[in-house]
Order: sequence, then structure tokens, then C-alpha cells
Amino acid sequence: MTNRPKTALVFGIGGQDGAWLAKFLLDRGYTVHGTSRDREASGFGNLKRLGLFGQARLHSAVLTDFRSVVQVIGDVRPDEIYNLAGQSSVGLSFEQPAETLNSIMLGTLNILEAIRFLGLETRFYNASSSECFGNTGGTPADETHLFHPRSPYGVGKAAAYWATANYRESYNLFACSGILFNHESDLRPARYVTQKIVRGAADVAEGKAEVLRLGQLSVSRDWGWAPEYVDAMWRMLNHDTPEDFVIATGETHPLEEFVRLAFDYFGLDWRTRVETDAALLRPSDIALSVGDPGKAKRLLGWEAATRMPGVVAKLLDAEMERRRRGEPCPA
Ligand code: NDP
Repeated sequence: MTNRPKTALVFGIGGQDGAWLAKFLLDRGYTVHGTSRDREASGFGNLKRLGLFGQARLHSAVLTDFRSVVQVIGDVRPDEIYNLAGQSSVGLSFEQPAETLNSIMLGTLNILEAIRFLGLETRFYNASSSECFGNTGGTPADETHLFHPRSPYGVGKAAAYWATANYRESYNLFACSGILFNHESDLRPARYVTQKIVRGAADVAEGKAEVLRLGQLSVSRDWGWAPEYVDAMWRMLNHDTPEDFVIATGETHPLEEFVRLAFDYFGLDWRTRVETDAALLRPSDIALSVGDPGKAKRLLGWEAATRMPGVVAKLLDAEMERRRRGEPCPA
């Protein structure tokens, strides 16, 4: 037995989860490597915001290019790989279905093949998503719930989930998928509805906008706090056996409640400040999504500490602090 520090390779280290995971792993003494499609062009704004730039070793790697994937994995020979890269916006996936499917499905397959090809004992985490389930209905979805994705993004995530399970069963790889429900933080870019709401409510409160325009408000989601969710990813790879886990709070809340809480923060009545815009509706959407994180609690000892009202408050606190400091928004 050696006491050498473990090495992790995080595909998509510049994203929201990548940056939080890098912090989590560095805090635990890991040597952290991370990828971006173009290391030179990426600003790694999230790593900079967390004060981590320079602490992780950064590489360029394009997931759809097997040579590029095998090269970085062969160079780093990590103990753990976390695949957090790929087109991650459900809305954008309707406009870029092929790019979304390729980056998620082929990207995951390339990592699995590279681990197998190189004969490594690397443990692999696949970032799966509640979008695989589609509508869960009122009963929280556990790991046995049927997949019925409602977007090209969800279709890609479902395929990557099954590729991961198939490589685990066929080649005995330590490969698992975390089926994560929505998780937020101030590192999310403006494209996501939660950030639109937070920034929109702040703009209205500061007199920079009259109203906030949003799409479908009747959808319900299970929202948690991203820094807690990367802990669950790490627990999965440090569990005795490779298994898939649902990671969620177990509570669902209407988007309208999220909006109300955001405007309440400023003492404003959301009903006079929000307009719905048909142009922002998706071709198909999930009406209600809620997860059952019971298995993660039993086997990993993981449980969400921050519930949806706490998520809204933390996002607004961070947004107002960012404005006070005059820092730019995450792009
Ligand atoms: P982000 O979008 O913040 O990060 C994903 C990273 O992937 C980006 O930083 C980017 O890195 C890279 N990327 C973006 N587009 C592409 C593309 N077309 N092809 C290849 N790479 C691309 O996502 P999150 O950190 O929020 O999420 C991490 C993972 O977890 C993603 O796979 C996401 O789908 C999944 N997930 C997230 C949930 C959430 O609520 N946040 C819920 C469930 C699953 P660069 O530009 O540097 O190459």
C-alpha cells in the first residue's frame, strides 16, 4: 500500500460542476487534472471565481475525438475519471440535437473505450441526468424508474447511461452513473432559467428592467445545491462496488414558487413583474420531476442539506455580492 495522493481527471473542469468538483478534490489532497475543448481559448472563469486557477493541470481534449481522449487519459493515467463535459442545456439541445447527442453519447463511449483500450483500473463517473426519466409524476423516481426522455439532451443522457452500465457488465469496469436532478449555484451561466430569474429579479429591483420574461411557469423541479452534489459523485467512485445512484433532494417545487421567492427577496410582488412569453416555450417539456435519493442515503451516507428555498436565497445572496463587487456574470 502506498500513500501517494490520488489523481483525478475531470472532463469539463471549466463548467459549474467541474469547478466545484475540482475544489472538493483539491481540498482532499488529490492531484487534479481537467479538460476543456480548447485550453488556450477557455477563460476558466469558474476556476478563477473559486480561486483555483493554477491548482489543476489543464489539458485540451475533444470528447468526440477518440485520439484526443485516449491521449489525455494515457498521459494522466488517473485513479478516477469524472465525465462532466458535453452539451448540457436542455433548451439548446432542441436547436443542436446532433451536437448534443454526439458530445454526450460518443463522448462517454470514447472515455469508456479508452479506459478499456489502455487496460487501466481507473474508476469512471458518468454525469447522467433526471432528464432520462422525463415526467416522473408525483412518485419520486428511484434507480428502477423507467426512462422516457423528453428532449434530445435526455435521449443522449439515456444512451450514455446504458453505455456505462454495459461496459461495467461486459468488461468489469468500475463505471457508474449518477442520475442527478437539477442542482444550481452562482457558477451557472445566464442561459439557465434559475439564473434568468435571479438576475431578472435583481434587475427589476434595481430599476434596470421593468419586467422579467419567462417561458413555462407551471413546471415543477427537484432543485439542490451543486457543491453538495459533487460530494455524491466522489462517494460513488469511493464506494466498494460500482453502482448507479439517484441524487436529488426528494422534494419538488413549481417554477412559479422559485419566481415568487426570488421577488420576495426584494419585497416585490412577482405577479406584477413577470410576463410569460410563448417564444420561450420548448417543443416538449417535463411537467414534474422529483427524485428518490433513498439509495444514496443508505449506501453512500449522502443527503441533500439545502432545499429549494435555501437554493434561491443562496443564489440571490451570491448575485447581490457579485453586483456589489462589480464582477462579471458567469458566461
Ligand atoms: P456545464 O455546461 O457548466 O459544463 C459542461 C462543460 O462541458 C462545459 O464547461 C464545456 O467545457 C463542455 N461543453 C459544453 N458544450 C460542449 C459540447 N458541445 N461538446 C463538448 N463539451 C462541451 O454543465 P454542469 O457543470 O452544470 O454539468 C456537468 C454535467 O452534469 C453535464 O454533463 C450535465 O449535462 C450534467 N448534469 C447537470 C445537471 C445540473 O443541474 N447542473 C443535472 C444533471 C446532469 P469547455 O467549453 O471548457 O470545453
